[in-house]
Amino acid sequence: MTMRVFIITFALFAISCGSDSSSRRSVSEFDGSAAYQYLIAQCDLGPRVPNTLAHQQALALIARTFDSLGIAVEKQDFQVKDPYSSDTLHLTNVIGRFNPNKSNRLLFCAHWDSRPRSEMDADSQKQTQPLPGANDGASGTAVLLQLAKELAALHVERGVDLVFLDGEDWGESGDLDYYCLGAKEFARRADAKVYDYSVVLDMVGDKSQRFFKEEYSVRYEGKLVDKVWARAAHLGMSTTFDARISQPIYDDHLPLLAASIRTMDIIDFDYPWWHTTQDTPDKCSPESLGRIGKLVLSLVVDPL
Ligand SMILES: [Zn+2]
Repeated sequence: MTMRVFIITFALFAISCGSDSSSRRSVSEFDGSAAYQYLIAQCDLGPRVPNTLAHQQALALIARTFDSLGIAVEKQDFQVKDPYSSDTLHLTNVIGRFNPNKSNRLLFCAHWDSRPRSEMDADSQKQTQPLPGANDGASGTAVLLQLAKELAALHVERGVDLVFLDGEDWGESGDLDYYCLGAKEFARRADAKVYDYSVVLDMVGDKSQRFFKEEYSVRYEGKLVDKVWARAAHLGMSTTFDARISQPIYDDHLPLLAASIRTMDIIDFDYPWWHTTQDTPDKCSPESLGRIGKLVLSLVVDPL
């Protein structure tokens, strides 16, 4: 009798160890190829410029992905008067919440819109064309869509919000009032105190991926940046996550920081096709998406 109890107890212990190691194996295997398919799917729609059909279709793609996971999304619809035309911009942030009742939440953000112009293109004829946005827009969105699938499969217990921000790239060069429109709207409505911290992903898919510590992030949340970089090193990514500091970059983290949400930006700004019509999927890779995906997944599974 005693022996039988022992055997059953031992068997249960072995099962629980087995499931633990298999979930850890899953964590190390963030599916970069599946994420890359999400990047392609977005680019296949065409530039996701606000007030276009492709923009609506990309919104449907994000919502559909969460629907398939059984997770309802919250849509934040808002309008902005376009300063460059007589139009009104119809914009939407999409929020997918895991374990919505939990506090001490993590927030991951990426922008899902693409830029309406390619002012850095070497061909002046193309500078008024919209951006394919494979890296600038689709890459971060692709990582968050795949992260949603991975979090659902792992049945994570942590409170996590994945936020797809609209209107990041609307402004003309230097017109900061019309960049980060979705981040400003999200920040205006957010309850900052529910978040432990937040990470913005932007331009994360470059084939020759390398991240520097972004200067504003270091200035305002230096300890957070150091911890995330240490985690990347622990995961064997110290070549990709270079300890040097980049130029300051105005991105979606700044409105969140202004709303007292501890936020850092992970952005690879060394990208020759930035704001050109050459920002296409062939410049990105599944391996790069897999690397950044593995890092963010580890932030959820193993708290900093
Ligand atoms: Zn951009």
